[in-house]
Amino acid sequence: AVQIKLNVMEGFPMANKIPMTTPLVEMDGDEMTRVLWAWIKEKLILPFVDLKTEYYDLGLLHRNKTRDQVTIDAANATKRLGVAVKCATITPNRQRMEEYPQLTEMWKSPNGTIRAILDGTAFRAPIVLPMIHPVVKNWEAPITIARHAYGDMYKAVDMVTEEPGTATLTFKGESGAEKTLTVQTVSGPAVWQGQHNTEKSIRAFARSCFQYAINQRQDLWFSTKDTISKVYDGEFKRIFEEEYETTYKVEFERLGLTYFYTLIDDAVARVIRSRGDFIWALKNYDGDVMSDMVSTAFGSLAMMTSVLVSPDGKYEYEAAHGTVTRHYYKYLKGEETSTNPVATLFAWTGALRKRGELDGIAALGQFADKLEQATIDTIEGGTMTRDLVGLWEGETPARGVTSLEFIRAIKANLEKRL
Ligand code: NAP
Ligand code: MG
Repeated sequence: AVQIKLNVMEGFPMANKIPMTTPLVEMDGDEMTRVLWAWIKEKLILPFVDLKTEYYDLGLLHRNKTRDQVTIDAANATKRLGVAVKCATITPNRQRMEEYPQLTEMWKSPNGTIRAILDGTAFRAPIVLPMIHPVVKNWEAPITIARHAYGDMYKAVDMVTEEPGTATLTFKGESGAEKTLTVQTVSGPAVWQGQHNTEKSIRAFARSCFQYAINQRQDLWFSTKDTISKVYDGEFKRIFEEEYETTYKVEFERLGLTYFYTLIDDAVARVIRSRGDFIWALKNYDGDVMSDMVSTAFGSLAMMTSVLVSPDGKYEYEAAHGTVTRHYYKYLKGEETSTNPVATLFAWTGALRKRGELDGIAALGQFADKLEQATIDTIEGGTMTRDLVGLWEGETPARGVTSLEFIRAIKANLEKRL
């Protein structure tokens, strides 16, 4: 079912395309985003950039054919080359197993696999436009959520018990040493949960956050509930502080940046009253919840970008949304859809800019800036996909167009800027 309609290349390619030295890791994906992927490349990048990529097809059927080896290969290529751009992919569930009967296994989430190999942290940031106002009026600049992606409730064990009794928590060391705590004695039915995290993962999370804040030249906030969870959350707080003091403080001070730790209750109140423009690091559950709150308040899921950053400085750029299945089925019926390509396009510009930065190719970064600006020009001029029309507060009436019309309008604006 994965088919791409390739149109003939439009317009004249630039005589001197922007050169690249190191290839990007290109991870293709599924459904409507796979269609947008090909259009973005063909119409907005290939005519202008002498694009070099190492291509990995993470489309569901190819993952199945390679027994998911392609996902592992793509993640390892990212370790080797340093910068990747990824299209949204299907994570199969029971319904998908029926839809694609040729699947031999319910393959794991590619994002989960890639995150585990890179040991990375996902940073989610909204693309902010002057004419689309966040629900929270004083938010002027993006708030980026950094969510810890390992452990706690997501790797917990749970049980229900029926009779009075006592639960204990025991750790058995390889040395033979043991530690036991009484969790609680109960007089009737009860529910229990055992959670953990590892120092290694918390430290990698902290390092990714500090490093990303330095790259972005933004303050870093971190919050937990350490007044109640004195040992567990206290450990997160301690490791962040230790990494800051020993490794990042000098650079933060040189750049005039702030590392700010506060209790999560206090952070929530301050975030709502803030003007934005900072990175908010959160534990796994807190980040899960707060990223949905922040992205909804900023406008649309289709305007959220995401970048996975490993503690040793490898980057994987993607849109925060999925494969937009509903639109894909319309597309397969021959209907033109108005799927928003902005987050996927900004994944490409993010990756090209980072590649240019690492390889010392200034023109690549300038191209990424111009392409982003051309996208914003297009929306500001009143031309946008339909998901944005309802959010629009500009003077001129908004014109909802199809994805292809929108991409062509961006191209016209880009050519004016080049
Ligand atoms: P989704 O693809 O993000 O789409 C949910 C809805 O949000 C769409 O139906 C659409 O609403 C709106 N939407 C999302 N992106 C849009 C865009 N670019 N332009 C316009 N509207 C957009 O989430 P889903 O339907 O839950 O998941 C679909 C598939 O994506 C699943 O198989 C899931 O496994 C996968 N997924 C992948 C990733 C990833 O690779 N990172 C992340 C999430 C989900 P309307 O239908 O109302 O227009
Ligand atoms: Mg969530």
